[in-house]
Amino acid sequence: MRKTLFSIVFSFITLHAFCWGFYGHRKINNYAVFLLPPEMMQLYKPNIDFITEHAVDPDMRRYAITEEGPRHYIDIDHYGAYPYNELPRRWNDAVTKFSEDTLMQYGIAPWWVQTMLYKLTDAFKEKHQAKILKLSAEIGHYIADAHVPLHASSNHNGQFTDQRGIHGFWESRVPELLAEKEWDFFIGKADHIKNPGDFIWQRVLESARAADSVLLFEKELSKIFPADQKFSFEERNGITIRQYSSAFSIAYDKKLNGMIERRMRQSIYAIASFWYTAWVNAGQPDLKQLSSKELSEADLKEFEDLNNAWRKATIKGRDHE
Ligand SMILES: [Zn+2]
Repeated sequence: MRKTLFSIVFSFITLHAFCWGFYGHRKINNYAVFLLPPEMMQLYKPNIDFITEHAVDPDMRRYAITEEGPRHYIDIDHYGAYPYNELPRRWNDAVTKFSEDTLMQYGIAPWWVQTMLYKLTDAFKEKHQAKILKLSAEIGHYIADAHVPLHASSNHNGQFTDQRGIHGFWESRVPELLAEKEWDFFIGKADHIKNPGDFIWQRVLESARAADSVLLFEKELSKIFPADQKFSFEERNGITIRQYSSAFSIAYDKKLNGMIERRMRQSIYAIASFWYTAWVNAGQPDLKQLSSKELSEADLKEFEDLNNAWRKATIKGRDHE
């Protein structure tokens, strides 16, 4: 009975902990602002709370809209072996070869980042402040997801290898434990990306290649770690939850040799560089002279709906479980 209760609570926690966790996404978007040139900083810095808070909207939207899910991942191993040359990198070629239904079924993360880049570039051209900020916050989410190894693997929550929970372990538990205290987020500055398609595919391929170690190292560590020390139980809001213990999390991070910190830093750099690229490609509009500064009624309504759908917590489409 007790065990059942623990696992129910545990799966509830992991259900809410996909995609870098809310903590990670907010941190990543927040840090990305500091890589921008002064001309962009004058817009992003005063709005950093918005960029930070809305980093998680795309995850909340997964509770409201079925098509949202596939934008966050790609089960690239469905298309053969690394480097997956079977899969055309251009959307139209991939649709012709595999059909849109198939692509949607296995995830469209690298293409969706490019779609978001077009939208953001257009928002800069329109000088539409509300759109620029909203799209900046959201593209940050999708880029960060593309950097997570288990977002590029069909075994996304270790469900094929008896490692359920590893998704949230890698991207939430470990960063929440170590990012603040141990990791370095001094990163430098954003660059203009000449070929955003190539860039994001490279990141996805790195993620796919790293997925094996993410899974294997947890398995290896579990074998040598005393079973009763792998998990710890913590009281939160009156309920006991099971989570990977600090000792196990630290040992795992060490075995990964800084991989999570590295991917987090790369996410931050990539996000700032995509923002910068959109602005440059739009002709570097003066961000002091923007229109539509207030969010529209429709935006405000959407934020409210997203929050409500998320609170009800019934995910549409595939879950990361
Ligand atoms: Zn996500």
